Amino acid sequence: MNVTQPLKIIPLGGLGEIGMNCMLLEYDDEILVVDCGLLFSDLDHFGVQFVIPDFTYLLQRKDKVKGFIITHGHEDHIGALPFALKAGIKAPIFATPFTTLMIRNRLTEYGLVDSVEFRELKMRETVAFKHFKVAAESVNHSIIDAAALMIDTPLGRIVHTGDFKMDPTPFYGSEIDRRAFGKAGQDGVLLLLSDSTNIERCDHSSSDRMVYNKFEQLFAAAEGLTMVAMFASNVGRMGQIFEIAKKIGKKVALAGRSMEQNARLAQELGYHKDAPGILISMEDLENHARKDVIVVTSGSQAELGSALWRAAQGEHRQIKLQKGDLILMSSRSIPGNERGIGRMINQLFKHGAEVLYEAVHDIHVSGHATRPELKEMIELTKPKFFIPIHGEYRHLVHHAELARQSGVKAENVLVAVNGDVIEVTPDSCRVVEHMEEPRVLIEGREGNDVSKLVLKDRRSLGEKGIVFSLMVRNAESRRIVSGPEIITRGLVSESLEGWIIEEARNVVKKIIAEYDRGIGNNAPKMDLQETIRIELRRFFNQNIGKKPTVLPIILDL
Ligand SMILES: [Zn+2]
Repeated sequence: MNVTQPLKIIPLGGLGEIGMNCMLLEYDDEILVVDCGLLFSDLDHFGVQFVIPDFTYLLQRKDKVKGFIITHGHEDHIGALPFALKAGIKAPIFATPFTTLMIRNRLTEYGLVDSVEFRELKMRETVAFKHFKVAAESVNHSIIDAAALMIDTPLGRIVHTGDFKMDPTPFYGSEIDRRAFGKAGQDGVLLLLSDSTNIERCDHSSSDRMVYNKFEQLFAAAEGLTMVAMFASNVGRMGQIFEIAKKIGKKVALAGRSMEQNARLAQELGYHKDAPGILISMEDLENHARKDVIVVTSGSQAELGSALWRAAQGEHRQIKLQKGDLILMSSRSIPGNERGIGRMINQLFKHGAEVLYEAVHDIHVSGHATRPELKEMIELTKPKFFIPIHGEYRHLVHHAELARQSGVKAENVLVAVNGDVIEVTPDSCRVVEHMEEPRVLIEGREGNDVSKLVLKDRRSLGEKGIVFSLMVRNAESRRIVSGPEIITRGLVSESLEGWIIEEARNVVKKIIAEYDRGIGNNAPKMDLQETIRIELRRFFNQNIGKKPTVLPIILDL
């Protein structure tokens, strides 16, 4: 085997932002894609629902792609898979059992589940490719069946942590096995790629056990209906709720389709053993005393139309909140959602309910390792090279600093960003090339992409409104015979509209008069449409301080 070739590592997403995790490992004629996630968009007011990696690099080399290796079932690790498959990148998907079910579920929604081959990734078992050998190692995270990857390459071993934390008392499974990572460190790790999400937190992350104990106290003391809002993918937390409910003699109902779906997937794999006899349907709520029921609900991010959001608006069919009800927001607020969540919490309080949320009560633990755990990971694996992954740019910088403090040589620590082409040799690890903006904006479930130009138009329409100038021209004489009519949308308030339209009409009338004179004198033809567009934009800029989109329409009859 020729090991003089460098190994290429190309992050398409997840470096410099939280979300859209996707990383390519390329050696010779082989490419592995580690994770293939999406990023929920902060451009949703422009119709952009989410962002996915740009697969151009992969498409140009699609015969080389030998597998998607998926570390766990979160959206920011699996969400772009349907788009990769639709784009024509065909390779088997390797994932652990629960992750596989989450992916199958997602691909079924897109009608793609039969177009791809699934290969089970068993913890501690190795999958061999031509140049790579990949083994999954169980880690603690806010979803079950999450894996780190030990990837043997012709140049040495790469440890990719996926998303992880170290939880001494997880509800399902056991604590991350430090010996496995320590063993890798002893054998020699060429490169560590490690989760940076929580680098800013200095205390050790809390355990599932802490949430369990808090839940137990709160559920037992509740005098009305209890609702727990959380991510639907956190079936471990759901499992805790079933167990506690059974213990204290309450029932559990699941609100939201994704909640029901994921609970079903977990049960398929033998989780949620306490659910039978405890789980009731939402329709069955009215047959139980309020205080005897816990509703586990979606909507922790105040998503429009979610069960909790509807309950807050007073629009939920089965849930009418009242004094004495208790609502636990058991998840973090994704940056960008805080204001919506704040508004929803206010609504919930207005119904008389008590709401416990992040800022006032600890009823959530993060799924990501904090500084001391990240340090431990570096010290266990003793990597030659280190690249921080999964984090905003400042997180990557802090994590890089931590690696230097933890014994990695300063020159062997690399802060890379999406689109970097990183070349690794036995002696070096450096960026050799950079691809611009490797991302695609997506709207709607059909996955239409939104180009930069379309986004620019939407932004302009949203901020500045639109003006139509309509007129009819005699096709033969070329003279304007009717109009101009001016129609505006989203421009000024009603009180100003009459005046501004009249003045705009005068502007256009003047242009038409000049145009008419030009026809009479056989002067060079005026570009009527363009002149109207320019003059109207100038007029609006002078009078209302903004340049709207102007569409002059001339009908030749
Ligand atoms: Zn995750």
